[in-house]
Formats: sequence, C-alpha cells, structure tokens
Amino acid sequence: MNTPFPPVEFDARVIGKLSQSGPRYTSYPTADRFQNDFGYGQFLEAVASLRMRRSRRPLSLYIHIPFCDTICYYCGCNKIVTKDHSKAATYLGYLKQEIDMQGRLFDGMGQIEQLHFGGGTPTYLSDKQMGDLMTHLHANFDFASDAQGEYSIEIDPRTVSVERVRSLRAQGFNRISLGVQDFDPDVQKAVNRIQPEAETRAVMDAAREAGFRSISIDLIYGLPKQTMASMAQTLEKVVAANPDRIALYNYAHLPHIFKPQRRIAEADLPTPAVKLELLAMCIKRLCDAGYIYIGMDHFAKPEDELAIAQRQGRLQRNFQGYSTRAEAELISCGVSAISAVGATYSQNEKTLDAYYEKLESGVLPVTRGIKLDNDDLLRRIVIQKLMCNFELSMSSIEQGFPIKFRQYFAVELDKLAAFADDGLLTIDDEWISVTPKGRLLIRNICMVFDRYLGLAHDIAPQPMRYSKTI
Ligand code: SF4
Repeated sequence: MNTPFPPVEFDARVIGKLSQSGPRYTSYPTADRFQNDFGYGQFLEAVASLRMRRSRRPLSLYIHIPFCDTICYYCGCNKIVTKDHSKAATYLGYLKQEIDMQGRLFDGMGQIEQLHFGGGTPTYLSDKQMGDLMTHLHANFDFASDAQGEYSIEIDPRTVSVERVRSLRAQGFNRISLGVQDFDPDVQKAVNRIQPEAETRAVMDAAREAGFRSISIDLIYGLPKQTMASMAQTLEKVVAANPDRIALYNYAHLPHIFKPQRRIAEADLPTPAVKLELLAMCIKRLCDAGYIYIGMDHFAKPEDELAIAQRQGRLQRNFQGYSTRAEAELISCGVSAISAVGATYSQNEKTLDAYYEKLESGVLPVTRGIKLDNDDLLRRIVIQKLMCNFELSMSSIEQGFPIKFRQYFAVELDKLAAFADDGLLTIDDEWISVTPKGRLLIRNICMVFDRYLGLAHDIAPQPMRYSKTI
C-alpha cells in the first residue's frame, strides 16, 4: 500500500454514542496489567534470551528526566517540581550508573537508531549536564549516524535560549518537540503556563537554522478558558509556524487522580459538546492546511517520515506515541521509565528514593513488568496494526500465528459487526478496514481485542481508570 489515507470523517452522533474511557495502547498489555513479581531477574532473562537468539533488531533508547521548574495545572505526568537544581545533579549520578549497566548488558547487540529524551522537562538539565550525559551515552552505546538515526528531545520553550537550541543540535539531537498547548494568554494563565508566542517562534526558527530535521509541537484541546474563537486563533498561529508534526491531545480532567488539576476551575472548562466542536475544528483546519491525520492525536506533513512510514505500512506504536522504527528493542533509563525488550515490558521504580536504593545495591531498578504469553503477542500485533495502519489482513496474522483468525476471534468479530453497522469499519474475507469515520474511534475498536478488558465477552465493567477515547 502506498497511497495516502482518505481524510478522517467527523460524526458527532456516533462519537457521542461511543464516547467512553479506554487505553491509549502505547503498549499491550497496558501498564496497569504489569505485575509486581516481575523484577531485575526477569529482565536479565529477557536480555539473555535475545542474546541467545542473536537478535539483531535495532535498539531504541528512552531517557527520562523527571524535573520541572513550575507546575502546569493540567499535568498528568510523572514529574518532580522543584527549583532546587542540585537534585538534578544527584539524579544524573544514578542515571549514569543505570546507563553503564544497560550498556554492558546490551554490548554488541546492535546500534541505537532512536533516542528520545522525555520528562518532566529534559531541558531542566543545564547545557553542560546535557553535554556530559550525551557523551556518557555515546561511551556506553553504539549510535547510528546522524543521517540514519532519530534523536529527539522534548523541550519547554520557556527553558531554552536560541544558543541552547544550537547546542542541543551540536550534542547530537536532530528532532525537537515543543510543548505549546495553546497560544491564548487567558488559557495559558488558567493552566499556569505563561509562554509568549514570540518565544516559541524564536525557538522554532532557531531549531530550523540549527538543522533539526523535524520540529513537532504539542497542543491540548479541552483546556480551561478555551473557546472556539480562541482555538481558531491558536490554530492560525500553529499553521503559520509550520511545524512538521503536531500532537493534539485531549485534556483529561481527572482531579481525583492528578492533584495539580484541582487548581483548575471546573466552570472554566469547555462543555463536552464544545470539546467535540473544538476537536472537529482542529482536525478540519489542520487537514485543510495539508497535514495528514496519522491517528490517535497525531498529524504530520505528507513528506514527514511518520506519514511516509504509515503509507508504507511500517508505522509502530510505543510509549512515545507513533514511531517509524519497526520492532526495535526499547531500553529505558530513569525513574518510572518503561522498557520493552523481547516479549517483556518492565518498569523502573517510580520514586527517586526507591530508584536510588536499587542502584546503590547494584541492581537495575526494575520494580514491575510482564512477560507476554502467546495470546498477548497475538493481540499486541492485531492492536498495533489497527492503530497504525487502520486495516488488518486476517491471513497475514494467520501466517505469523498458528490460529484460524475467524475462529480465534469469533466473539470479537461479532462485536465489531456493531461498529460496522455504525459505519466505522468494514469486514470482508481478508480485511478488517477502518473507515474515515472510524479512525477517530480507533481506541474503541482496539478495545474489543483487549483480553484484559474482556469487552468482547461482556465480562468487565467499563474501564474508568483510563481517559476518554475521544
Ligand atoms: S506539563 Fe510538562 S512541563 Fe508542565 S508540569 Fe507537567 S511535565 Fe512539567
């Protein structure tokens, strides 16, 4: 397949009918299924089994920097807000120790083709600290060339100067992602994230001049004080700024789970009906401006690698969202970071104290995880294909697994028939194909295949711990 996808179609009636909470499927099984009896030993076994199989799959590295200077009220991330930057120096000492251990474990097993720095705020680190950390990573892992590898960093434009952007490029990053959320001053005030438009534009210009290959910006719809008029203005500014990729997230107001959100006045939030209108307007404006809707909150220019990978059926989903590197082993370092190695997921300790304590005792700080069984592996591929390609060849799944698709997933296919009646997908002898109308509801479609939710078998209540699917 090498043709562009038809544009997404917005059907408020069906969206309203199917709106519910559900996972984002950055992994399958989802992180809430990880088990506490999975630890360092199981992680070592997974790496040893890769080594025995002489796996030469590319490697991907994720580095988590948890610190932020100030709190954004909408935040649902795992972060530590502090102005005491000495905490970062302590953290870096331990992080480097973890990198040493992972570097030794994966020695000779392949090149790093993808690196991502996330947080928190990675640019909370000083220029010198970042330079040292990158040198340390290069001393422990073999990196693909700048032309071949994707080396990205999330930045908070409030924390970087034009000089810092140049320095990040010189330190080896070639992709940059900027948190913007909204350009409207009233919205920025309501979420405690004052970020003048000129500052953001200056950082983007500097990134282009410095030779970053891709610039991405993050937006959020559903924030307090957002209106159709304010969002329309923000969109004009976004389109004028001309990023290569745009992530447009749905604000999930869950103050009972995320404490900072209690500082958002509920009366300032757009109603669910307005939120849907905001989303419809964003999709239309961005598609009119020439962006391709990749899926699950992401837009990219047609010539961007993400859009090309999708046209060629190579797109993947991992903890950072969509990715162009098929089947890479993901090694994650830092507090709370999640690795995906072989048929396992493993998560690091979630508090600094626990993370430091494990490293001090000489073990990797794995706290929980899961070893996937054959059913998990099968469903993971089905969900991945639907999320990334919006279609699934049933016979291609039968080639990879010893099953008869229609028998194995008889109950799931029955459930999908209801979605077909709503015009969200079609099912023929070979393909399950998601229609332009179904693309916005891809999470609902994938949830049918999630054994742990048991939706196909009507054995589980609606999963309320997740955010709304749309
Ligand atoms: S949204 Fe980002 S910058 Fe703001 S508090 Fe959360 S992690 Fe920090």
